[in-house]
Amino acid sequence: MAGVRSPFVVVMGHVDVGKTLLLDKIRGTSVAYREPGMITQHIGMSFVPWQAVEKFAGPLVDRLRLRGRIWIPGFLFIDTPGHAAFSNLRKRGGSVADLAILVVDITSGLEDQGVESLKLIQSRGVPFVIAANKLDRIYGWKSVENRPFLFAVEDQEWHAVATLEERIGKLIEELSKFGIEADRYDRVRDFSKQVPIVPTSAVTGEGIADLLLVLAGVSQRFIPKEKLQVGEGPARGVVMEVKEERGLGVVADAIIYDGRLRKGDTIVTAGLEGPKEAKVRMLIMPKPLEEMRDPEDRFMAVEEVKAAAGVRIVADGLEGVVAGAPLLAVWSLQDLPNARRLVGEEISEIKIESDRE
Ligand code: GDP
Repeated sequence: MAGVRSPFVVVMGHVDVGKTLLLDKIRGTSVAYREPGMITQHIGMSFVPWQAVEKFAGPLVDRLRLRGRIWIPGFLFIDTPGHAAFSNLRKRGGSVADLAILVVDITSGLEDQGVESLKLIQSRGVPFVIAANKLDRIYGWKSVENRPFLFAVEDQEWHAVATLEERIGKLIEELSKFGIEADRYDRVRDFSKQVPIVPTSAVTGEGIADLLLVLAGVSQRFIPKEKLQVGEGPARGVVMEVKEERGLGVVADAIIYDGRLRKGDTIVTAGLEGPKEAKVRMLIMPKPLEEMRDPEDRFMAVEEVKAAAGVRIVADGLEGVVAGAPLLAVWSLQDLPNARRLVGEEISEIKIESDRE
């Protein structure tokens, strides 16, 4: 056993609720508070180290009594918000995504795609939290940049708090129609029964600290431990996107959730016709921020990546591979038939599941 990886987090919700901006804010925080030299960028996802969260959220970490109690290394946020990313992160018997944030606009409630997201999250059994975003739009709300919600709410006029409570009350009522028991996160008594609602603003950064701390707590309590354990063996992953890159040919952007992927490895993945092999010619990762001199020079080639990672794979044989396909590395040709069988089973199961949706 090599250790524990960071959970993968997806951000979902109706259009225009602030998913993209929320991700930007979280990423910005991580960059500002990380240790120098720490890599925060992967292909298709961003690493938010726990140390950065602890520095950013300081006093709230103590208030919520979380100091010294968090053992996950951080979070890996999937950069593409919304349905498609979540759907592609499917694997046999569940989801590669460990955790979801359902973002709603606090001024307008669940909305259509919010409901769809909710159903999708529930059907995969992924633990989630609700970000009630656009808190700064509450009439009379006084914003202070990046202030934790718990401190901000204590500093508001009564009428702003009353409006907020009315909005949260409405949201709780809406959610109950879908069998979800929810409450403002600081009032949740039993996290195994109630979904926490965290008021946030992706514009002012208020509540972002709270959101990250609640995510950490929920991760440690509700993601099965074995899901976060990673080994040193051949990689297992999922293809997020396949595309033609100038000068490189067909490349696959993939998430590796277990093991190691090395240059030269044979991988088994899948196209519409079934399992397919490819040989890894090159593995590409973003450069560390310090070494990024100009936008044209953002990537570097690496010999190996370890889970958890988001990597661009250049390989012979990726033509026709589809987004959402499983990926298994094979280190000995003897293991190839077994890998083909496993990939075949996984895709047939995924097909049946998507027909049901
Ligand atoms: P997405 O479609 O869910 O990714 O939403 P975006 O992140 O693109 O945001 C949609 C619009 O809402 C943009 O104009 C944002 O500036 C705005 N917006 C997002 N979050 C907030 C917020 O917390 N407060 C306010 N006032 N506006 C926000």
